[in-house]
Amino acid sequence: MTSLHKPDADQLRQEILRHLKYSLGKDESHATTYDWRMSLSLALRDLVVDPWFASTRQTYKSGAKRVYYLSMEFLIGRLIEDVMTNLRIDDIAKSAIADLGQDYDQVVHDEPDAALGNGGLGRLAACFLDSLSTLGIPAYGYGIRYEHGLFQQRFEDGRQIETAENWLAQKHAWEFERPEVSYRINFGGYVHQSGSKVNWHSAETVLASAYDTPVVGWQGKWANTLRLWAAKPTRIFDLESFNRGNYLAASEPEALARTISRVLYPDDTTETGKELRLKQEYFFTSASIQDLLRRFISEGHPLSSLAEHVAIQLNDTHPAIAGPELVRLLVDEHGMDVDEAIILARNCLGYTNHTLLPEALERWDEALFARILPRHHRLIELIEDWHLSNTDSTVRIIEDGSVKMGELSFIMAHKVNGVSALHTELVKQTLFSDLHGTYPDRIINQTNGITPRRWLYSCNSELSTLITSNLGDQWPNNLDQLAALADFAEDSGFQDAFRAAKANNKRRMAEWIKQRDGIIINPEALFDVQIKRIHEYKRQLMNLLETVALWNEIRDNPNADWTPRLKVFGGKAAPGYVVAKEIIHLVNDVAKRINSDKTTMPHLQVLYPENYNVSMAEILIPATDLSEQISTAGKEASGTGNMKFALNGALTIGTLDGANVEIRDCVGVENFCNYSATLFLLPLGATI
Ligand SMILES: *Cc1c(COP(=O)(O)O)cnc(C)c1O
Repeated sequence: MTSLHKPDADQLRQEILRHLKYSLGKDESHATTYDWRMSLSLALRDLVVDPWFASTRQTYKSGAKRVYYLSMEFLIGRLIEDVMTNLRIDDIAKSAIADLGQDYDQVVHDEPDAALGNGGLGRLAACFLDSLSTLGIPAYGYGIRYEHGLFQQRFEDGRQIETAENWLAQKHAWEFERPEVSYRINFGGYVHQSGSKVNWHSAETVLASAYDTPVVGWQGKWANTLRLWAAKPTRIFDLESFNRGNYLAASEPEALARTISRVLYPDDTTETGKELRLKQEYFFTSASIQDLLRRFISEGHPLSSLAEHVAIQLNDTHPAIAGPELVRLLVDEHGMDVDEAIILARNCLGYTNHTLLPEALERWDEALFARILPRHHRLIELIEDWHLSNTDSTVRIIEDGSVKMGELSFIMAHKVNGVSALHTELVKQTLFSDLHGTYPDRIINQTNGITPRRWLYSCNSELSTLITSNLGDQWPNNLDQLAALADFAEDSGFQDAFRAAKANNKRRMAEWIKQRDGIIINPEALFDVQIKRIHEYKRQLMNLLETVALWNEIRDNPNADWTPRLKVFGGKAAPGYVVAKEIIHLVNDVAKRINSDKTTMPHLQVLYPENYNVSMAEILIPATDLSEQISTAGKEASGTGNMKFALNGALTIGTLDGANVEIRDCVGVENFCNYSATLFLLPLGATI
């Protein structure tokens, strides 16, 4: 750990001006908000580089084990406030920006919201990166540098319209391009065996090219790397075709290759059996495994000690091909015996299961799989043989013409985790009951979490200041300390300050929606919020029916003493998920009807802001009074939105599902402190 060099406001201002001039090539008098935002970001990024280098040097020196977190998605959001929070430089930056005559909020909010993920799974990956750096654990996040992140959502006549997201239209301030770090990724072709040597003669090759973003932890003591891969052609351009006047054909190899990292699949918890999706998965997994193996070998350790130096965690089955890929490299490139390679790979790998929903479990058509990845198809057969002959299990990986990625991940991992206590039990009892019987110690629980730096300290500065004034400033690093707030539960001064913070956060949200959409909301109302992907099991429809019931009650008795209520919905539906899109349409229609009812207007309003994302969550969650976590029991593996709300002092109304159960145990049914009291109802259909 190194201590951070922290500039004062004047030094930071000089650095911003230096970047404006020499990195952006702009004169102060012509600088736009973009120029100022980029200059500030680059000045902040400079501050991260020293701790980043120091962390890397220390890891090499100590020979410490590294964590490699492989995830198809990283739902990052904006980074500027994240970095300022972790460097604790937000006040200094504010005054530097003010000294330059710029509007701080305008500059900070100019940053595009990096949405390289769909929802909870991708946000979990982003939160883990912050936590790994805060804990000083040497780690790499590995993923795909999608050119277009999650689609942008608009409503037209109440219906969801999707448009392409374009976060890379402007330069990404935080990344370092690494053109010298690239790997060849092969697809297709055939496998040829000569003696004991197997050769894969592939038909197609693309390059995976690295882009690194430093991820700094709390107080700037440690920084890890998020390494994202972009697909590039092995040959930029076919000069022969070009010279023959065939201009389109000349750029074909480039277009083909680039398709692989072009867009994020917008499906949320539904499987997509698309060839391109399989190529994306193999693309980033192979690049990551080749990269970590190169790093390991460069350190001079014997291959047999790989598992002592390398922990590879699979965020869901999307990188499940990591098992066979590692075996392939060990066997085909390093001459290791197959059984030895399987055991070694397994000792390196961990697998996180995120869902029990059958439609979300990845399976590939065997013929397609064998066509795209012939060598891996053979290796999976060998892994299956090894599993069947070393245990009395009858569970197969390839069955009825499909390759089952859940079973592959389980068999190739030394630990498999569920993401909440309840979900882990269900994984043991249902999804993997047979494999659990064979390997009774393999499944463990690791309940999801969120970073309190982003989801309290940074997004709710007023509540954070109140907590710090009572508990000191160590809690963002040690959340258990919040339990001491129980001592203030009956303190009227604390209660007043807590209420004032909530009221201000509600006013801030009211101002935000007025600026953004021209909608006026009542900041005195009870803010009742359900924001998450739209899915039948999450039951936005039930929440809407409750809204209609409330509306009818108010109409029947408009002069009763109603608590004014703002019902907030937010979230995107997968473009192909027809029922979810119908639910969006219905919410908007109902909102239109209710919001135009003069009788109920003072008591009830429905708000559905377009394009829910991380930045919107950061405004809505601190302003929420009532958090809706009403999934059909047994379906929400963990939830992390539930944690964000609880941390910001909202009451939860929820089913006993996922991590709701643990949140309730933690805050106490009888509500151990009044700012995070939790109210649980068991709505219709709850089975647990
Ligand atoms: C936290 C978060 C989620 C996950 O929310 P759940 O309620 O757990 O489904 C999804 N999207 C965004 C933008 C988030 O910040």
